[in-house]
Amino acid sequence: MGWDEIKKARRRLSREQGAIIKDWGGRIPIGLIYPNSYYVGMSSLGIHVIYSRLNNYSNVVCERAFWERDNQIQKIPPLSLESQRPLTDFAVLAFSVTYEVDYLNVIQVLKASGIPLYAAERDDRYPLIIAGGPCITANPLPLSPFFDLLCIGEAEPMLPSMLSILSEGINSKRDELLEALALLPGIYAPQYYSGAPVVRQWVANLDDSPTTSTIITRDTELGDLYLIEVERGCNWGCRFCLVSSAFRPMRFRSIESLIAEAEKGLKYRKRLGLVGPAVADHPQIEELMIKLRQMGAELSMSSLRVKPLSRVVLRELARSGARTISLAPEAGSQRLRQLIKKGISEDDALEAIDKVADLGIKQLKLYFMIGLPSEADEDIEGITRLALSCKGILDRRQSGTRLTLNIAPFVPKAGTPFQWLPMAPLSTLNRRLSLLKKSLPPRGIKLKVESPAWSEIQAVLARGDAKVAEVLANMEDMSLAGWRQAASKCQLDIDFYAHQRWDTNQRLPWAMLDSGRG
Ligand code: SF4
Repeated sequence: MGWDEIKKARRRLSREQGAIIKDWGGRIPIGLIYPNSYYVGMSSLGIHVIYSRLNNYSNVVCERAFWERDNQIQKIPPLSLESQRPLTDFAVLAFSVTYEVDYLNVIQVLKASGIPLYAAERDDRYPLIIAGGPCITANPLPLSPFFDLLCIGEAEPMLPSMLSILSEGINSKRDELLEALALLPGIYAPQYYSGAPVVRQWVANLDDSPTTSTIITRDTELGDLYLIEVERGCNWGCRFCLVSSAFRPMRFRSIESLIAEAEKGLKYRKRLGLVGPAVADHPQIEELMIKLRQMGAELSMSSLRVKPLSRVVLRELARSGARTISLAPEAGSQRLRQLIKKGISEDDALEAIDKVADLGIKQLKLYFMIGLPSEADEDIEGITRLALSCKGILDRRQSGTRLTLNIAPFVPKAGTPFQWLPMAPLSTLNRRLSLLKKSLPPRGIKLKVESPAWSEIQAVLARGDAKVAEVLANMEDMSLAGWRQAASKCQLDIDFYAHQRWDTNQRLPWAMLDSGRG
């Protein structure tokens, strides 16, 4: 056990408010793992909520662990933050996985910790290993050989029954415990799978499950914010969107509960981060923001739609000192925006920029996808035209606002209406990116681009099955080269998973999931 690792963990703890340190005696120790850095992980409300929910059980001690770059490079096993113990000391390890590409880190964490990778190879000496998160809810198959249990849906409704079985059976034989857990709604236990549909679980009334920052620290991406979840899900139903399908139905918290949470948060931070995929859709958003401002809060919002875009919401953000506003037209042409069901026109986008130009903010970010189904070069020209029109408005109004375009390749996601459609070939994506690089930066528009090669890995994982798991298991290191070598060794047909249009009659790898939409 490295002293450096212990010192690092203690330093982090000393900079936190809200960490829970419990004695292990007589309790079930659960390690909550975020397979990425502390800096990224502590900005995820999922980690805050599961940590506090689990520690609310008097017979549970839950500690966090992260996977830092140093762990990765030097293959150092991660230690829990609170008591600096190795992961093998825990009875249960619960992974919270937000992004598909973090599957690669999951494998590294298990390997570095000396835990047999395949669930079938683990016996009573090893922790039970569980995972959950939006991408697992959509398709757990690429991780299925490694995990004892995969949670399909939101954690809150699943935790009480899981904890009850664990409390009673923690000293039982592993098989018996897993058999009992496998019967719970929303649990996919690959080794004990009966063949019955696994029904996605979700919280009916969000007010019953407050979701806010529970640990306060500056050492994270959103360290100056106290985060409050305003809503879950999104009703707009854009056809490519995982959030829209994995978090259905859209649910709002009551304004009373949000104000009560804000009162608590303001004791820690002046700035509140309102979180959700479509926060401004809250039916009382203007009233909420005005009240929060009257309480002395500065506000930040995780998402804004091009339309509707309330002037009151923008005004309150500007008065809160918001430096950046992000909007997502997603496609440059009306034809493609209609195809993806974005529900906005070019005029809507320009009207939104006009409103933003009044605010005096420092940066406007516009999000676009390239490689959407049926996209042609003229759709890319549409992105350029729209971006230049936006820049023209900002310049004419002398707003001093910088314009940045974030460009990501379209990746088909399980469970979405576009799940059968292909990702564009890398050569097409690279060519279209170079068109944008030629046309926009010389005119003062900054481009931030997601790598097509890493997006291809994301696509393979998003539509993957147990064959893809074999590639993950064979990866020697976490790099593009490492992925390609393992894919070639396992003879994985990358083209099939990422770039082929799938027949709508073919059985999907995730066909055993029931989205529980009612
Ligand atoms: S508006 Fe955003 S969150 Fe909602 S469905 Fe469309 S892309 Fe997804």
